[in-house]
Amino acid sequence: MLSSELVRSVLDSAPDAMIIIDSSGQILFANRQVSALFGYAAAELVGSPIETLLPQRFRARHVGHRSDYTNSVRVRPMGIGLELFGMRKDGTEFPVEISLSPIEQGNDIRVAAAIRDVTERRQTENALKEARREAEHANLAKSRFLATASHDLRQPLQTLGLLSGALRRMNKDEEYREILREQELAVDAMSRLLNALLDISKLESGAIKLELTDFDMDALFEQLRRDFGALASDKGLQLAIDKPHVCVHSDPALVGQMLRNLLSNAIKYTQKGTVELHCEIGGGKLRIAVRDTGVGIAPDQVGLIFDEFYQIGVTPNSSRDGYGLGLSIVQRIARLLDLKVNVESDVGKGSRFSFELPASDVAQSGAEPRVADDSSGEKIVGKAFRILLVEDEPGVRNAMRILLDIEGYHVTTAATAEEALQLLRGSNKFDLLVTDYHLEGGSTGTQVIASAREILDDSFKAILVTGDTSSAVREMQGDANLRITSKPINSDELLALVKALLAA
Ligand code: ADP
Repeated sequence: MLSSELVRSVLDSAPDAMIIIDSSGQILFANRQVSALFGYAAAELVGSPIETLLPQRFRARHVGHRSDYTNSVRVRPMGIGLELFGMRKDGTEFPVEISLSPIEQGNDIRVAAAIRDVTERRQTENALKEARREAEHANLAKSRFLATASHDLRQPLQTLGLLSGALRRMNKDEEYREILREQELAVDAMSRLLNALLDISKLESGAIKLELTDFDMDALFEQLRRDFGALASDKGLQLAIDKPHVCVHSDPALVGQMLRNLLSNAIKYTQKGTVELHCEIGGGKLRIAVRDTGVGIAPDQVGLIFDEFYQIGVTPNSSRDGYGLGLSIVQRIARLLDLKVNVESDVGKGSRFSFELPASDVAQSGAEPRVADDSSGEKIVGKAFRILLVEDEPGVRNAMRILLDIEGYHVTTAATAEEALQLLRGSNKFDLLVTDYHLEGGSTGTQVIASAREILDDSFKAILVTGDTSSAVREMQGDANLRITSKPINSDELLALVKALLAA
């Protein structure tokens, strides 16, 4: 048996303040640390109720807690989930952490409490919480700034790009044309960066709301074939896109954006061979893979390529193609859709990016989407065609009109949906409608297209130019007489689309 002197000296040397009370809450023992912590001499405390060490407002409640504890004793921390406070002799309070252990002595129960001053820890925790709150706030403010700035920069940039394209076409002097082409390339690069920043900031600021629905993959794949066909064949690559004949349940616009980024990378990082959009169905899932026969990715880089602004082997400030944002956009969308993107790659052989979507119960229509044959575009002669152009932003409207005029199209413009409807109902005849998506007064380009088809004929051709492909894509999927293109659009793209659709 240890002597009580020895026990006392062991308890005095413990790092925590230790108190022993009896079942009525009277203090039987307090070690040296208690005096240091609470400012009482041990002799002042022995015989006093434990509530002496608590701020006044907790005392009455504590008596109840204490008797509950002595009725069902066990070792446990005190006040789980609560912030506990002690009170010094001078009346000042401090946060504490307390752990309780019962000591049974015959019929009597005593309780040992180890008390720790957690002032510093609380301060650090609070400072961390505050720093985190500030960082989140700053991040949100940055995202909002980026979203607003990118959005407001888009229109003038769009105008600038289209006007450069128009000027180039008006100019016969090869030297001037070359300068204007350079200017267009610069505007294009700026637009692409702006688009990527806008996407990232929209995803980051939570501005993108998931719109889950059952949709036909064939229609989306067909759209991708149209969008990437020329890019691949310009590089001499074969583009193979499956026809999955299946409906999936997800957000079509976001899935489309993931696939666009992956296909654009596959084409960018492949010099020869094939880029494939491959599908496999099984276990209620559609596994989609974008495969290429390109440069491949070294194993130690695979974990890094999804980071923002990360490009393999590219040092900051050096000249480069792209901005290292494509895959971080893919990753953010995947997180939003609760998908996992897998990467398999062999340096020098190629890469495969894949993910799985839940197949939906809705049966696929079975009908092959009608596809316009874009290749006959060359036969078109602009002069014969009349285009109705609907765009609410005056600078962009004017630039588009000039560009289409130069190519010999007969262009009539409208600034609002109402103006467009008046023109459609009037005596003018039109071959094609080119419309912005978001129009003044909350109308949309899709509404204008629907009205035009009601008034003229239900296969009336239209191009929807939009900065927000999400709703647009959903509403108009699989329509062979429609092209959807994202803003900013450059002069070559716009004219190629117009030509191809009129030839279809
Ligand atoms: P960016 O293509 O603009 O550089 P991304 O975020 O899309 O940015 O890609 C990050 C990096 O990952 C790229 O710079 C490239 O080095 C690598 N990468 C992405 N996709 C492929 C691919 N299909 N094949 C080889 N490398 C790739």
